[in-house]
Amino acid sequence: MKSVPKIFIKSIVLLLVLSILTGCSRQPVSYTAADIAMGTVINQTIYTVGEDETGNITELIRRLEEDTLSWRIPGSEVARINLSAQGTPAGLSEELWEELLLLKAVSEQSGGAFDFTLGSLTGLWNIDAQALPDAGEIRIPTEEEISLALNRSGYEKVVLEDGCVTLEEGVRLDLGAAGKGIACDRIGDYLRGTDISGAVISVGGSVLTYGEKPDGSPWQVGIIDPGDTSRLLGTLSLTGEWYISTSGDYERYVEVEGIRYHHILDPASGYPAHSGLHSVTVVCDSGILSDALSTACFVLGKDEGMALASLFGAEVLFVDEEGNIFLSEGLEGIFRRMEE
Ligand code: FAD
Ligand code: MG
Repeated sequence: MKSVPKIFIKSIVLLLVLSILTGCSRQPVSYTAADIAMGTVINQTIYTVGEDETGNITELIRRLEEDTLSWRIPGSEVARINLSAQGTPAGLSEELWEELLLLKAVSEQSGGAFDFTLGSLTGLWNIDAQALPDAGEIRIPTEEEISLALNRSGYEKVVLEDGCVTLEEGVRLDLGAAGKGIACDRIGDYLRGTDISGAVISVGGSVLTYGEKPDGSPWQVGIIDPGDTSRLLGTLSLTGEWYISTSGDYERYVEVEGIRYHHILDPASGYPAHSGLHSVTVVCDSGILSDALSTACFVLGKDEGMALASLFGAEVLFVDEEGNIFLSEGLEGIFRRMEE
């Protein structure tokens, strides 16, 4: 066997020493950012030995909103489908195809409590715009308008076949109940291709925890007290990659003559859902599912919601209208209530 030249061995040893030394000195640095996108606040904390990626992550969310998800921005994929898939099949990007399949499954399994075709109904209530401080006089839709919008809604009026979607005439998609969770999924995919070793990123009511903190301690995700949104009800202590979404009647609402009209609608009645709950938080390994399920569970109420979450392998925390907390088994020991 040929002997290996000494100079070659020396350079390998030098390289090893250098890599050990630089490896030791490259501790992750934290970067934080707060931005607005998807009509909500994005908060980021990332730990990385590489560059500050927070700007790229915000840009990713904005691109997702403008190019794919927004039903309000003409030219986005969803807006285009709402126009072109009326009675005829329209092609979908691979990602949106997968996402619509999942949303249809949640719609079916929840018996339509979650429904991604409520565009006509949510447009009619228009709670997002009506909840703005300078919105002017509040307008509650009439029974007739609601029944017309319900006739133009229904997940069973959507056909997903061969990578294409077809909507029954008049049906419009609204992915508002899953969009922020989808954003968290896309961020998770992005993070896997970077030097980021740990991150906690919230897109409104949907949160992603990823990797680990440099000190190895668990991520703490705060749950807002729906009875007093200026304080936290408690925290979830999580290790690794998780997706957490909360839906609540405090997020966007208007009040008329003492009645709260909020943004989570019951597709069975066409009116804001009243199932005895104030908020629902879902924890699972998928952003789109955590977001869609939190909306579905809010509409279904505690018992049916618990069964639905378990069907998808998700954990759930309910806060009822009296402020009582109910947890699925997997969250016991993970949720810690704030000291009174
Ligand atoms: P969730 O419970 O997750 O979802 C509630 C929302 O889902 C409702 O607002 C409605 O759109 C829809 N919905 C209601 N009931 C149901 C149901 N039973 N099944 C399925 N869907 C239902 N807000 C702005 O004010 N301005 C914006 O420009 C804006 N742009 C956005 C762009 C994108 C891509 C996304 C995803 C959201 C945007 N939003 C914007 C926020 C949006 O309009 C909703 O208010 C928000 O998605 C509600 O999320 P949530 O987590 O509070 O509630
Ligand atoms: Mg949701």
